[in-house]
Amino acid sequence: MSSKLIFLGPPGCGKGTQAQKLGNELKITLIATGDLLRDAIKDKNSEMGKKVKSYVETGALVPDDIIIQLIQHKIDMLNTFILDGFPRTIEQAKQLERITKIDKVIYFICSSEVIVARLSNRRICPKCAKVYNLITNPPTNNGICNNCKSTLEVRKDDTEPVIRERIQVYERQTLPLIKFYDQRLITIDASINDIDLVYYNLKGSLLSVNR
Ligand code: AMP
Repeated sequence: MSSKLIFLGPPGCGKGTQAQKLGNELKITLIATGDLLRDAIKDKNSEMGKKVKSYVETGALVPDDIIIQLIQHKIDMLNTFILDGFPRTIEQAKQLERITKIDKVIYFICSSEVIVARLSNRRICPKCAKVYNLITNPPTNNGICNNCKSTLEVRKDDTEPVIRERIQVYERQTLPLIKFYDQRLITIDASINDIDLVYYNLKGSLLSVNR
């Protein structure tokens, strides 16, 4: 199976959930830039955290040079990985091409209405980063992570005005990547509210391109 993968799609399309599932099953390292940035923000001693906080919390993109610096040393030594949330601009994609060769880009398609509905119901575990949805994928015990029993949180950028801003930023800055990765693109319908079915389709598509 292709081993250097990018998961691309609008915020809330479920690419992070799918990336976690595939990474676990195939034992591929998952690198999610949003998680790395949130970890840095939580660490009060992190210079990076201080620099990126206001961007992340208002739904703007962190400047390319900061993000590339963050990602470069993570992927330098790896032969296989899934990138979730990177690249998000043409400049980031160009820089990534200089670092390594990407095999396939999974493009998750989802409408804005579905995204807003999903993100307003999203809850995350601050400790193990597991993601829940109160409607489609609720935790077994209200407000508590199934894995590590921590209290679930709402992400600061999952409020409606910030969600709308993130969708606009995605359309303006990230959508042009579809053309950039043209020949390497695999398209997945991410509007289906069934995580296992989307995963089944994802694996089917990955297997068929590797045959
Ligand atoms: P995510 O968890 O992928 O939705 O990312 C949350 C936020 O982190 C985004 O809204 C951006 O502020 C920031 N971020 C994550 N990845 C990138 C990236 N590749 N380039 C710039 N900003 C990013």
